[in-house]
Amino acid sequence: MFKLSAALLLVALMTACTTSPTNRRQVVLYSEAEMARQGEGAYRQMQSELTVSSDPRETTYVQCVADHVIAALEPTQQAANRWEVTVFDSPQANAFALPGGKIGVYTGLFDVAYNQDQLAAVLAHEVGHVLAQHGNERASRSALRSAGIAAARVLGASSRTVQAIDYGSQLGLQLPFDRAQESEADAIGLMLMARAGFDPEQSIALWENMNADAGPRPPEFLATHPSPETRMNSLRNQMDQALAVRTRALSNGLVPDCIPGALN
Ligand SMILES: [Zn+2]
Repeated sequence: MFKLSAALLLVALMTACTTSPTNRRQVVLYSEAEMARQGEGAYRQMQSELTVSSDPRETTYVQCVADHVIAALEPTQQAANRWEVTVFDSPQANAFALPGGKIGVYTGLFDVAYNQDQLAAVLAHEVGHVLAQHGNERASRSALRSAGIAAARVLGASSRTVQAIDYGSQLGLQLPFDRAQESEADAIGLMLMARAGFDPEQSIALWENMNADAGPRPPEFLATHPSPETRMNSLRNQMDQALAVRTRALSNGLVPDCIPGALN
């Protein structure tokens, strides 16, 4: 019985091993359609349970920045998701994007993202998570972890061994992958915002704001790992390339002009 499920697991892994947009090897077990369906379900639930901003000074502004970011995607990336953005009335300085292209922005984000370029940096980072299928990867990893623990139990491993596997898979698998995912979303986001004509250097300014302003619970994009310094350094390393991309965008007439509180 165990041999059979181990073999099935192996087949699943072999068929599910793929490469991310930055050529990182990743395991995705679920179909994009299934992930999109789940993402949409969670999104609709949030829209019905949380307070959605109806202030056009916020919604028009966020929609404008999101439209520019999404317009800079490759046609296939645009078509692969049904992109949508919602502004939630909440003091936390945070944003998210669910599989299927469902983006959420909390109004508290305006306290750290001071201009359209900084907001674009956050949105492009979140879009990067979707493009690289990070939600799928996370769900797959968690399923494999449970399968590994179940397999160890079937094999009669002591509870201490099972605990060690659990702990090991959290530290050895979960954390480094999360770190890789955040760096990857940073890299994808930086180029994406530049391609949309936003100033990529503002991504570093955003980090500085968040670093100075982070509350007791760091927002999604201010995870404890990698450290803000590491992230800012790798953004700096990619900045020349991003600035060149932005220069091309500007010369092609891509000059975003989203104004915060446009109705004021
Ligand atoms: Zn992130």
